[in-house]
Amino acid sequence: MISRGEGIHVYDEAGKQYIEGLSGLWSVGVGFSEPRLVEAAHKQMQALPYYHSFAHKAHEPSIRLAEKLVEMTPEGLDRVFFTSSGSEANDTVVKMVWFMNNALGRPEKKKFLARTKGYHGITVASGSLTGLPYNHMHFDLPAIPVMHLTCPHHYRFGQEDESEADFTARLLKEAEEVIEREGPETIAAFIGEPLMAAGGVMPPPEGYWPGIEALCRKHDILLVSDEVICGFGRLGSSFGCVHYGFTPDIMVTSKQLTSSYMPLAAIVFSKKVYDAIADNTARIGTFGHGFTASGHPVATAVGLENLHIIEERDLIGNAARMGARMQDGLRAYADHPLVGEVRGAGLIAGLELVADKATKRPFDPVGRVGLMAFETGHEEGLICRNVGDTLALCPPMIVTETDVDEIVARMGRILDRTA
Ligand code: PLP
Repeated sequence: MISRGEGIHVYDEAGKQYIEGLSGLWSVGVGFSEPRLVEAAHKQMQALPYYHSFAHKAHEPSIRLAEKLVEMTPEGLDRVFFTSSGSEANDTVVKMVWFMNNALGRPEKKKFLARTKGYHGITVASGSLTGLPYNHMHFDLPAIPVMHLTCPHHYRFGQEDESEADFTARLLKEAEEVIEREGPETIAAFIGEPLMAAGGVMPPPEGYWPGIEALCRKHDILLVSDEVICGFGRLGSSFGCVHYGFTPDIMVTSKQLTSSYMPLAAIVFSKKVYDAIADNTARIGTFGHGFTASGHPVATAVGLENLHIIEERDLIGNAARMGARMQDGLRAYADHPLVGEVRGAGLIAGLELVADKATKRPFDPVGRVGLMAFETGHEEGLICRNVGDTLALCPPMIVTETDVDEIVARMGRILDRTA
């Protein structure tokens, strides 16, 4: 039981202190108990605790946050839709894209391309986009037309002696073959996390994203960047798409948007998508979609203050500097007998454990890495998380050099105690 948090630390009921090495669920960017966020929520609670955004109504915090998002995100993304979670946001994206293609008179253009091991949420549509078997099994998912392409992780899915460049070329060829086989006129959008996080911390191979972007442009397929984890500086760049050099038509953000102090997600998208929907509603009918809590005033007030803090304290620059230090420190464990691969970017890192470094045989017995993260991690005072055989780290973006060195040292002790 975790009962309080402060800065990069949380404390259990017995008062034991832990470094929150995963920022909760990859999300508490500005750290715990930030007084400015508490104050922003308090003030908004007093002024207007709730109002909606339906039927020509609006309120200041949601408008101001939408403006801020348009200012911060890459050029061309200038319309905003709020939901309360990343899953709801991705469901909304599916509906927006479908509505748009119906409005444009091409109702057959509905399929999504996603990747195995991608994570986009757990609701019916977003869970279908997710590419993890345990999110599908026994739920009858996927329930929407989606094709999962090969996970772009060279260490696990590259063929023997295949260079990273050749791996990228093979993945792009696969994507184009699927597009041509299905017919581009049936494919609506490609969705991906810039760096796949929840599926096991997997940065893309060199050249992957520009290649995917080119394919999307060539075949008139919308490109959706799911930045729920990567957005607002996690990788040391403003957004994951900026980090890897591509421009999406639709961006999905959450988590770092409010540092998870309030549930909030924002879809930021192009005027082209907006106009296709808005221009046609008179003809085909209202875009009948929205949630009671869309743009919730307290959540958006907290989000706005959170983004101001990220800018004023240069937390994106800090994530770049501290991220480089953390990646360097962890790469020192690449020779550790348990470690198959150390990977990541900025303040997201993963250590994949193997039973045999030469053959990459998965670490066993099953569940041991979870125990390392849970039991040994707790004993060492470092909360991290296992994703299969990968130990994942994603500390708050306020970490200092001393904090990073301590995280790296504790991770080393967790490895040594298990070896
Ligand atoms: N998209 C990505 C990339 C995520 O990592 C997550 C959650 O971890 C989601 C979507 C779903 O967000 P939520 O849990 O808020 O529904």
